[in-house]
Amino acid sequence: MAFTFKGGVHPREWKLTERSPIAKLPASAHLEVPLQQHIGAPAAALVQKGEGVKLGQVIADNANALCCPVHAPVSGTITGITTRMDASGRMIEYIGIDNDFADTLSETVLPHTRPILETSAEEIIARIRAAGISGMGGAGFPAYAKLSSAIESGVDKLIVNACECEPYLTADHRLLLEHPDAVVGGIQILMRALDLADATIAIEDNKRDAAILLRSVIQNDLIRVHLLQTKYPQGDERQIVFAVTGRQIPAGKLPKDAGCVIFNAATCAAIYDAFVTGLPLVSRIVTVSGDCVKKPSNVRVPIGTAFKDVIEFCGGYSAEPDKLIAGGPMMGVCQWDDNAVVTKTTSGILALSKVPHREADVCVHCGKCALACPMYLEPLYLAAYARIGQYERCKDFDVFSCVECGSCAHVCPGGVPLVQYIRTAKVKLKELAAAKK
Ligand code: SF4
Ligand code: SF4
Repeated sequence: MAFTFKGGVHPREWKLTERSPIAKLPASAHLEVPLQQHIGAPAAALVQKGEGVKLGQVIADNANALCCPVHAPVSGTITGITTRMDASGRMIEYIGIDNDFADTLSETVLPHTRPILETSAEEIIARIRAAGISGMGGAGFPAYAKLSSAIESGVDKLIVNACECEPYLTADHRLLLEHPDAVVGGIQILMRALDLADATIAIEDNKRDAAILLRSVIQNDLIRVHLLQTKYPQGDERQIVFAVTGRQIPAGKLPKDAGCVIFNAATCAAIYDAFVTGLPLVSRIVTVSGDCVKKPSNVRVPIGTAFKDVIEFCGGYSAEPDKLIAGGPMMGVCQWDDNAVVTKTTSGILALSKVPHREADVCVHCGKCALACPMYLEPLYLAAYARIGQYERCKDFDVFSCVECGSCAHVCPGGVPLVQYIRTAKVKLKELAAAKK
């Protein structure tokens, strides 16, 4: 039987690209590499305009803070450092690189040569940091910091998140089908660092082909493949921990407080690559999909490539999209245009036509949002109080426990933009707290 959690929704899957093998996008003539693609402090540029760089060379870092270094995804020449809006609306710095198409590899790109069982946890953490790996499934938390904190907390469960529960997205599914050895190799490195004898890969039961393949690659009982029900947001850390272990993460706490650490499947593969080839995180697999894309595909894309170049590679637009989304349709972020660039956390680029109109912003008190909420919240009250500016009341209704999964808005027959109200309440409460300080 497949395991799951309470609440959640069953949006139509739209996995148009699950049978599309991963294509490789040739690097563009110019890339804009963001200096903040992770949670924590932005990296500071280590290169200047006019300087030559090699593929895999560190071009930005901040060693004194929670930060992931940033590497050149191509060899070429630095064209400058500019500040502009990123895909999530923050103003951040970018390093521009003109590609010389020589792919000259940096001398720092070297594989790890000793057996992993003779490698210490400190060495593993250092290599993961040097490779600039941050979580590739969503928030982008630096992987070295997560691993180090999990070791300090003595977690006893390593869970690999292969759920990919957002509609449309199939990048992780294709990774599991085409490179299961890389995912398993990354898990073995993490098990060594955590000093754990076993691990669990959690995967939704709509990816049985990948589960079967993984079991055939693993061939032992130390890494288990755990089938979970296909339900959104199964990949959320609270839901996955509960479904796999039966443990609940206390409100405001992290998986480590329930003895667990979770790494995304793509992050595991990036860790494996950093050890086996020495290549830092300079590209990722992106699902390009939606009814306004001519050839929906899964594509390996160099970090810093403009969305428009990726869409062009997929045949261009078949119609003008009403919405261009970075990520999945439930938690992704709508874009102003296709000038945004692919980062370490860009799991998808969706170009969608207009959805049929629903009555906008009218609550009919049906209670469906509360039934769908996996965090046991009452979204209708959060929205109602946020709408009239009573943000303190939102706090009473535990607004900060909302993981912004969008399940409530998905089921709402009144078209209430619940997540927008909730995000506004969170921002306002943080501003009020800062002003009080
Ligand atoms: S689902 Fe929408 S209409 Fe129903 S109670 Fe919640 S906010 Fe109101
Ligand atoms: S209130 Fe938050 S956690 Fe609950 S369903 Fe809505 S977005 Fe998800």
